[in-house]
Amino acid sequence: MKVMKFGGTSVGTAARFKDVARLITDGDTNIVVLSAMSGTTNSLVEISDYLAKGNVTGARETLSKLEEKYNATVTELFDSLDSEAEAQVRSKVREQLDVVRAMEPSTFDEAAARSVLARGEMMSTAMMHGYLRACGVDARMLPALDFMRTDAYGEPDTRYLREALAQSMSDAGDTDIYITQGFICRNADGEIDNLKRGGSDYTASLIGAAINASEIQIWTDIDGMHNNDPRFVEHTSPVDSLHFEEAAELAYFGAKILHPTCVLPAKLANIPVRLLNTMCPEASGTTIYNASPTRSIKAIAAKDNITAIKIKSGRMLLAYGFLRKVFEIFEEHRTPIDMITTSEVGVSVTVDDDRSLPAILDELKKFGTVTVDRDMVIICVVGDMEWTNCGFEADVVNALRDVPVRMISYGGSNYNISLLVRREDKIKALNLLSDYLFNKSDR
Ligand code: ADP
Ligand code: ASP
Ligand code: MG
Repeated sequence: MKVMKFGGTSVGTAARFKDVARLITDGDTNIVVLSAMSGTTNSLVEISDYLAKGNVTGARETLSKLEEKYNATVTELFDSLDSEAEAQVRSKVREQLDVVRAMEPSTFDEAAARSVLARGEMMSTAMMHGYLRACGVDARMLPALDFMRTDAYGEPDTRYLREALAQSMSDAGDTDIYITQGFICRNADGEIDNLKRGGSDYTASLIGAAINASEIQIWTDIDGMHNNDPRFVEHTSPVDSLHFEEAAELAYFGAKILHPTCVLPAKLANIPVRLLNTMCPEASGTTIYNASPTRSIKAIAAKDNITAIKIKSGRMLLAYGFLRKVFEIFEEHRTPIDMITTSEVGVSVTVDDDRSLPAILDELKKFGTVTVDRDMVIICVVGDMEWTNCGFEADVVNALRDVPVRMISYGGSNYNISLLVRREDKIKALNLLSDYLFNKSDR
């Protein structure tokens, strides 16, 4: 059995729904995880914002636009296929929108906002399920709210998931195509919640691990993980295969094609993840698994909105315990550190969550002279970089010889070199790296 997850653009129009219906009816038994139609979750966030601010008109107007889009999509999807099935799907979509319509600003709280956000996935799955059945496919629905649950720490409750999913599948009965919602779950209090934006990838990976799937397929709008961010670099190309560790680094450091949390469940269960293109299903895409070609640099990603903090202190010289004190301050303020570089008299760290920065800086100043650089970007170069392989550091540094680099970090893993540059140098740095490392120019 395999898991097939389709993102927002893959179910973005009636035509795409039909493409997905063809792809999932491939003769295998599949659990199909769907995101909301593209743009929907953003609209639902907007509606929530209006309701939270007491602006009912704003909420209603945005909801009406969304409703028009869904009505038009349902009409096009069913065409003249089956008017009874079409009416049923239309009423299921309306039911979801009515939940949002019934929300009142006076009682609107965070739980209500999370409930609003869940409606997109409820609608896309109702549409796909109804369409498949109208086409004569025996698709069965597995309601994600029945089995996807987070614990008191907000982490997925994998044990519950395994048991509850098995129960849902047995309730649904034997079939080849199961449909379920990505992204949405219940929290430890039983309220409707979600796995954070982009979290449908996580749903797919958690389900894959729970059922010990043969493969987890993430279908999107591009033919696999490219060797650089196609939004900022021309002439990128897909990477055939990546080790789980390489994929985790790329996802965490900004390769939007894969949600960072998605890698771990698949890696622990040793299930290959394939990144595939709904618009070009014949492309081989990228396979992520526990092995991958060695001795090569594979891809580059960038993470924005980074703040670098340098603490310089004579007290660090020949002393122990200094780093512990520094790290404890970040820990007390629940602020994760991404990159670290040290010298005998100072340490630089980066954070992307700067909410507690003023308090952190106040405390750090007790230990040394503190300098802060904002609006920085981590560029992460990923591949097989086992330390005895020679030359890859030289290539990376050479490629960036005309870009000011604030920090360089290597040796934390065998899989990446991270460099910190200014925001205004990001696109230049990404392009220089691609030209030098992959397009072999200017050597
Ligand atoms: P979905 O809605 O299917 O989850 P996403 O928008 O989350 O899709 O992810 C796909 C997008 O990720 C691509 O359209 C592309 O612009 C972006 N992206 C960023 N970095 C990369 C990369 N290294 N390789 C491929 N796509 C990338
Ligand atoms: N629909 C959700 C989002 O837009 C989840 C997802 O697409 O993965 O964030
Ligand atoms: Mg995504």
